[in-house]
Amino acid sequence: MNGRANTINVAVMGGEGIGPEVTAQGHRVLQWFADRRALPVTFTEAEYGKVPYLREGEVMPPATKAAIDAADAILFGATGGPETVEVPAEARRKDSLLAIRQRYKLFANLRPIFIDPVLHEASPLKARVLHGVDFIILRELNGGIYFGEPRGIETLPDGQRRGFNTETYTTSEIHRIARVAFELARGRRGKVCSVDKQNVLESSVLWREEVTKLHAAEFADVELTHMYVDNAAMQIVRAPSQFDVMVTGNIFGDILSDCAAMVAGSLGMLPSVSLGPVDANGRRKALYEPVHGSAPDIAGKGVANPLASILSVAMMLRLTFGRSEDAAMLERAVTAALASGARTADIVEPGGATVSTTAMGDAVLAALNTAEEAAR
Ligand code: NAD
Repeated sequence: MNGRANTINVAVMGGEGIGPEVTAQGHRVLQWFADRRALPVTFTEAEYGKVPYLREGEVMPPATKAAIDAADAILFGATGGPETVEVPAEARRKDSLLAIRQRYKLFANLRPIFIDPVLHEASPLKARVLHGVDFIILRELNGGIYFGEPRGIETLPDGQRRGFNTETYTTSEIHRIARVAFELARGRRGKVCSVDKQNVLESSVLWREEVTKLHAAEFADVELTHMYVDNAAMQIVRAPSQFDVMVTGNIFGDILSDCAAMVAGSLGMLPSVSLGPVDANGRRKALYEPVHGSAPDIAGKGVANPLASILSVAMMLRLTFGRSEDAAMLERAVTAALASGARTADIVEPGGATVSTTAMGDAVLAALNTAEEAAR
């Protein structure tokens, strides 16, 4: 924590591609809550990616590391882009998003899947399938095949090359994420669906056994079901309203959440948070970011949808600031902005008019102003 007691320190790190464009809108919205609703926040701008690399030789220069070390919450945009020799793979890997997640032990990634009824036409799924969809994909973020050793590419005696990775989970890693799932479900509709590939993978056999054990020992009041990942992908498209909390490992969660993005109409609508462990002072480091990436195909054009970043701010209000009413106010403002007809290109109906990234931010701020005036 920095400065005044009770003040929450937020590092704003736009990153690359459309990251800075959408994060600027999330930042404006958070500033609105600071100005109008006395949100106790201080901001630090933190550069990340190609720009600081070209200037200082590091993707994450010392000032950025200091800013995110000191931050209670990080509002991140995106990383990535077209392959370029300007940032060598080694420099990128050292300070990658994966490395940040590991450095701060951000093990629990929450991805809410919800579709505003005004956006039903933007989804490739039928409106009747979308009715009542409201679930969370809880993805384990510090383990699994993305971090498992051994890994590499080797040359075999016959001259072929062989690439290999290791899917690995320990009992404590499984219990840590499953506990978050059960606790989340208790505050929702009381249902957890654990997703694995137990019919093929030993790591999934252990996953299922340990989730079941923890459930029996401490969370018998929550309904627990298990599903294979291939079936889960199909069920998300067939009947997404059946889910409440879906918990799964790193790679399965990565893939399933992009699939679920289509339920929400666009990747540009999906917020997320990655939570670390609770420390001795009861605080928990959190990185808020859209689910989408740097979208190089539309970067720099001012057309990206900023609502995933803005809805990530709503998650921050609820989880880091403990301001549920403000979070709900912001979510209603997003609905009002959409209801007023504001649409970026990714969520527009055929033939409809589109607005820019900034204009979508303006529409949300206008809706917040209207709500505030009405409440006076
Ligand atoms: P992407 O999410 O960047 O884009 C996928 C598609 O969705 C593109 O057509 C893009 O234009 C569209 N899209 C994404 N966000 C949008 C938004 N806010 N508004 C409108 N349209 C949007 O995924 P990709 O193309 O597979 O990856 C591009 C780069 O991003 C890669 O380098 C990848 O590694 C990286 N990436 C980073 C993150 C992250 O920073 N957390 C996540 C995923 C991918």
